[in-house]
Amino acid sequence: MTENPPLLEPPSDDFFMREALRQARKAAKQGEVPIGAVIVHQGRVIARAWNQVETLKDATAHAEMLALTQAESAMEDWRLTECDLYVTKEPCPMCAGALVHCRVRRVIFGCADPKGGGAGGFWNLLQAPNLNHRCEITPGVLAEESVALLKAFFAEARQRRAEGQAHAKGLKPGAEDGMVFDGP
Ligand code: ZN
Repeated sequence: MTENPPLLEPPSDDFFMREALRQARKAAKQGEVPIGAVIVHQGRVIARAWNQVETLKDATAHAEMLALTQAESAMEDWRLTECDLYVTKEPCPMCAGALVHCRVRRVIFGCADPKGGGAGGFWNLLQAPNLNHRCEITPGVLAEESVALLKAFFAEARQRRAEGQAHAKGLKPGAEDGMVFDGP
């Protein structure tokens, strides 16, 4: 009697968060606050993006927003009801609102943002009872790695400023002051 091959384990949340962390590192390389996101449909990554606010000079160019646009295009539908979004930091209220609009099924994030998070850190827009869609939330996936990236980024920004060096994108004096997230 032949044995059936073992069923493939579906990729874990850690697996997809590692891909989001790779995107976050790309942001850091460009002098952007290191936040990355991927969107997964039926076990397949259909969108990958990193924060590009400074590069695009667009305050709405958060990783999640860019990933949502890609995913809508891939699905040829703005309804992402079978899609899950992985992001290295808790989404802000803008992104949380967009995630609800797109009806994303699950939102999995790395570190929390107690000052300005829109997924339960400060507000919970992803599960607001008065909205017509609620996302499942899984917090704290590979959070330490996400925090380490953010801390290293802001430490470097401060260092450059202290040294009076020419500032790269996103590292202008006071740039980090505008960030809601300032590290735990
Ligand atoms: Zn955002």
